Amino acid sequence: MRKLLDGIVKFRREVRPKVRGRFAKLALGQAPDAMLIACSDSRVAPNVFASTDPGDLFVTRNVGNIVPPHGVNDGETAAVEFAVRVLEVDDIVVCGHSHCGAMGALAAGRSRAKTPGFKGWLAHADDARAVLRRNPGLGRGLSEADRLSQGNVLAQIDHLLTFPSVKAAVAAGRLSLHGWWFDLDRAEVDAFEADAGRFVPVDEAHAERIKARLPVPPASPARRRR
Ligand code: ZN
Repeated sequence: MRKLLDGIVKFRREVRPKVRGRFAKLALGQAPDAMLIACSDSRVAPNVFASTDPGDLFVTRNVGNIVPPHGVNDGETAAVEFAVRVLEVDDIVVCGHSHCGAMGALAAGRSRAKTPGFKGWLAHADDARAVLRRNPGLGRGLSEADRLSQGNVLAQIDHLLTFPSVKAAVAAGRLSLHGWWFDLDRAEVDAFEADAGRFVPVDEAHAERIKARLPVPPASPARRRR
């Protein structure tokens, strides 16, 4: 807590004078481009590895970056439906990471999870094993937990497609779904490439390939702030 409090004081002194105008503008509403679904893990820092600013990302974080199928969990359902139907984001990213405690627990056997709540929540990641069975090359060379973590990203994207609003927006070309994986050891963000059947580092060339596949934004004025 001491570090947090000192951080606020430092923010007031050094950063606030420069960002007050930006936040005052954001107070009128938000129009983020993307929704990010990431793990609660303190080491996953999307504002650092994706160089984002306030207002860029609509974020939901939970243990294991899990999206239960539509209608199963009110919190996740509300967040996804708000992002898609109200904010009308262009992209949803599911971001997993290496050394994930949740995926470690899944690898060790979900039935051995220490608390009932965690055990029940982790059931929504069971589909990661089915993904690995379908894609045996996924995460080749990684630990079992890290392979499950990569499989889990794809499993949660499948769960997103159980949301009628997501399915319709994807079918209409208004929404793109992406799988990212943050590797702590390499401090590197990998993105899933369906053609390669694996996660590939997002260097300049890969970023350009991903951008080239994105739908061309409409020529209409900027999206309304919500
Ligand atoms: Zn995690």
